Amino acid sequence: MSTLTPDLSTLSKNDVQKRESFFGWFGNIFRAIKSISTGMAITIKYVLTVKPVTIEYPEVREELPPNSRSRLFNDVDNCIACMQCSTACPVDCIYIAAVRRDKEAPKLKTDGGSPIKLDLKQYTIDTALCCYCGLCTTVCPTECLTHTTDYEYAQYTLKEMKYDYLDAEVRAWKHRIVK
Ligand code: SF4
Ligand code: SF4
Repeated sequence: MSTLTPDLSTLSKNDVQKRESFFGWFGNIFRAIKSISTGMAITIKYVLTVKPVTIEYPEVREELPPNSRSRLFNDVDNCIACMQCSTACPVDCIYIAAVRRDKEAPKLKTDGGSPIKLDLKQYTIDTALCCYCGLCTTVCPTECLTHTTDYEYAQYTLKEMKYDYLDAEVRAWKHRIVK
């Protein structure tokens, strides 16, 4: 036994308990300081060296890739009511109604030059049912139906997720969400 480490057998039981609690107290302080320092070292390392992966939404908005399949938009002025989109839709969430154009009515064409022989009376998509598979946009011959990169259209009710693309307000999305 070294001179720095006294023989505990020479001390009374009370003295030994006091000594153990004294060293135990310092031991606990040491362990607490070590534990806090280890945690703070990890925190400071991340604060100073790791780039944040979160953004300050809605002040900062993520730009989705151009081929994202997000909110659907139909530019109804270029829709020929061919029904190919509704036929391809696996969940039957596209509702179209159209009537044959009057023979005397002025001839209409899409921007791409396809003749418009039917007058579109309804073009509705229930986006609450849509699974964003993209089949409808793939088959559209005039490419008027597209997925946009707009992802900010959460609603309080399912009913509000059903969009009438002939509605003036929905038509105006063209200037806001179609790139
Ligand atoms: S993306 Fe798919 S599920 Fe949605 S409307 Fe088009 S075809 Fe239907
Ligand atoms: S496939 Fe295109 S052109 Fe045909 S009805 Fe659908 S949106 Fe209109």
